Order: sequence, then C-alpha cells, then structure tokens
Amino acid sequence: MHEHAFIHLCQPDAGKSCGACCGLYNWADSSAESLVERLKSRTRRFQGMVRGLDDIPSFSEATKSAEDQTKRYEEIYCCEYLGFLDDEEKRVGCLLHPLRNGGTDMRDVSFYGKELCAGHLCPSYHYISDAEKQALIHILDDWYLYGLCLTDIDLVKNYFRLISEGVYEMPPPSRFEGGALREIARRFFSFKISWPFRNDAANRFGKYYFDGSQYMISRIDYAALGCGRSRFDAIFLSLCSEFRKGEEVRRAEDMIQANIDAFVASYQNVD
Ligand code: SF4
Ligand code: SF4
Repeated sequence: MHEHAFIHLCQPDAGKSCGACCGLYNWADSSAESLVERLKSRTRRFQGMVRGLDDIPSFSEATKSAEDQTKRYEEIYCCEYLGFLDDEEKRVGCLLHPLRNGGTDMRDVSFYGKELCAGHLCPSYHYISDAEKQALIHILDDWYLYGLCLTDIDLVKNYFRLISEGVYEMPPPSRFEGGALREIARRFFSFKISWPFRNDAANRFGKYYFDGSQYMISRIDYAALGCGRSRFDAIFLSLCSEFRKGEEVRRAEDMIQANIDAFVASYQNVD
C-alpha cells in the first residue's frame, strides 16, 4: 500500500469490514452468534423482498417486527439496513448501498439519510495513524472483532504504544502480515471478547457508559481494591473490566504484560 494512500477502514478488503456506526454493537445481545443471525436473516429478507425503493418500507417493518429490538442505549440508533454484502458473509455493510442495487442509492430512506451515511468518517480515521490502521487490517480478519477493536481508539493506541516502547519503534505494518507477531497481537485484541474480568452487566462500550443523557467515562476504584492505579488502566477500561480484589488487578496486569513481553521477544527473534 502506498504510504499516503487513503486507508478505507470501513471496507478495507474482501475478508472483513466494519458496521459499528450503523449501530451494529448497540443491540443488548451483541454477541457474535446473535449478530450473525440478525444480519443473515435481514440479508435474506432483503434479497427476497426488495426489488426497488417501493419495497423498502415493508422490508423495514418486517425486519423490526422479526427482530428483538432491545438495545444497550436507546439514544443510539440501530439501523435495520445493515446486512451482509457478500455470499460468504465476511463483509457487513449497507444493503441500500448503490453497489448492491444496480447503481440505485436507496440510503435516502434511512434514519440518517444518504448524506450522512455516505460521508461519515468516524473518529478512528482521524486518531489512528496510517501505520496503526494498516497493522490492524493485517492483524484482524473477521468483521466482528475488527469493528469492535477498530472503534476502540484507546485500546488500539495504547497497545501500539506499549509494543512500540518495547521494541523502540512502531513496527512496520508488514511485520503483522503473518507469523508469530500477528498471532500475539491478535491474541491481545481478542481480549475484547474473551477478557475474564469483563463486566457484561455494565452495559458499556469500552470505557464509556451512558447515563441517561450523556456519556460518562467509567473509573476503576483502585483505592477500594487496596492498590494504586494500574499502568494498564486505560486498557482495563477499554475491556470493560470490573475487579473484585487487588489480586485480580495483578492477574490482569500479568496477562497484558505477558502479551507485550511475548511480542517484544518475538520481534527481536525474527530480525
Ligand atoms: S465506525 Fe468508522 S470504520 Fe466503522 S463503518 Fe463507521 S465510519 Fe467506517
Ligand atoms: S442506511 Fe446508513 S446507517 Fe443504515 S446500514 Fe446503511 S449506511 Fe448504515
């Protein structure tokens, strides 16, 4: 990829894509299995029902009545037009997009409208560097984890900072194309799903929670746990951690540190 080429985070390659800003992860049950079912049945319904713009309202009605509408945050819209773009169900995306509909852009009917949907670039475009974007695209190869991690700017920036400090440079993105480094980095980002200290009941996206009218940043009360603020505090918040005792904080720190150490050791071995 050319150094200054625009990196299209939404649809980076044939193997994955992101649908986070269409409300993908705002369903109360946003597990991978549940989202796959939701997107699968919508896409099938769309293919069966929609021949043109006139069919959209009945598609929308049918989808809303068929699906569980329980959200995490009522204030965040969950769009019913997000589905799978390809037969292999590797890419999530907009069923109203002109590329899917013989050139007709049907996004005017959506809640946000065509202008917003087509022009939206989320903060990740701005805050994540080109090298970090390219590395992430190499590391993650499924839409579910990709969209979850890509939109967690703190997690991404903190991880790349920590490994860069360990190896005294930002690893060139090509180092993540395969092999041990990619595996180790992928294990880290998979914590987003498998983190043992995750508090699911907190109903949060990363470190934010919704308190009626505004996002509040959550905090970990280290004093109550009898320890100081962890050096991995930002990562813990991204992973929605809740600790019951200080010993859990230490175990969690060991897990993060072990991943960084493994990365650093492996980085030096290869070169
Ligand atoms: S959250 Fe960002 S990367 Fe994901 S689809 Fe939206 S604009 Fe694209
Ligand atoms: S209509 Fe807009 S919000 Fe809905 S899936 Fe398409 S791009 Fe996303």
